Amino acid sequence: MSIASGAIITGESYRQPGEIELMGLMGLIGLKATGTAASFAKVAGQARRWIGQRRREWQRHRPLAEAFGHFLPRRCLLCETSCGTSPLCPACERFLPGARRPRCLICARPWQTSERCAGCRDAPPAYDATVVAADYAPPLDRAITALKFAGQIGLAQGLGDLLAGALQAERDSPVPTLDRFVPIPLAAPRLAQRGFNQSQLIAASMLRHASMPPARLLHPEILVRQRDTVAQSLLLWSARQANLDHGFVATTDLAGLRIGVVDDVMTTGATLQAAALALKAAGAVKVVNLVVARTA
Ligand SMILES: [Zn+2]
Ligand SMILES: [Zn+2]
Repeated sequence: MSIASGAIITGESYRQPGEIELMGLMGLIGLKATGTAASFAKVAGQARRWIGQRRREWQRHRPLAEAFGHFLPRRCLLCETSCGTSPLCPACERFLPGARRPRCLICARPWQTSERCAGCRDAPPAYDATVVAADYAPPLDRAITALKFAGQIGLAQGLGDLLAGALQAERDSPVPTLDRFVPIPLAAPRLAQRGFNQSQLIAASMLRHASMPPARLLHPEILVRQRDTVAQSLLLWSARQANLDHGFVATTDLAGLRIGVVDDVMTTGATLQAAALALKAAGAVKVVNLVVARTA
């Protein structure tokens, strides 16, 4: 019994919490009814199929929801009060952590001036610049988590709007000069499980703005994961670096092109460094990271 329940919960640790609870609950009901591990597996299997069916139905309606979402009255991304056409209400906009702090031009770490930080001067990363909208802190982190782990894809629109707003506010925004936009890809099993790549949805929302380059410049196929990497959050920085060296590969010749890489969260920068290495190896002359939130 413990082996069967352990397999469901630990074997797929990135499954949405609600699903684990639902499967666990149905499994427990099954166990209570018959008292055998076989019935647990059977009921858990039924629950899994049921969730799969609901997800496929939801996927069918997604393009429609995305298309109409743009015209519906907006609610603040963070507190859900009505907010007209902007992603945040005035109060949340005023208190968004890190939205206006000076950052390193290259890695977007908080820095006294908008120049290079000491780390980027000593060891320049493969990317050339990073723009972030805010700190990865409450309440913005909760919106990102809800998008990724609770499947609330409507939030991608607000997060993309937030990123577009941050780019518009940049004095010398690099965006108009970029030739292609690439979201950080998910590992294949994670994409299959989640059903969407949050960075791709955020990038698409960002490019819907009239002030942004056209959406046809979004090319998710350019960057692929070379292999499934071990869950990054379980590794130390040095191990992350090793794990992600050559973690991506570019699928097309990018000679002379300037690329914007879109990601939801930047922590150590190791993922974006690996992406930039792959893009530059394919000939890209400039790589600019466009990120919703960064850990301080
Ligand atoms: Zn608000
Ligand atoms: Zn820096």
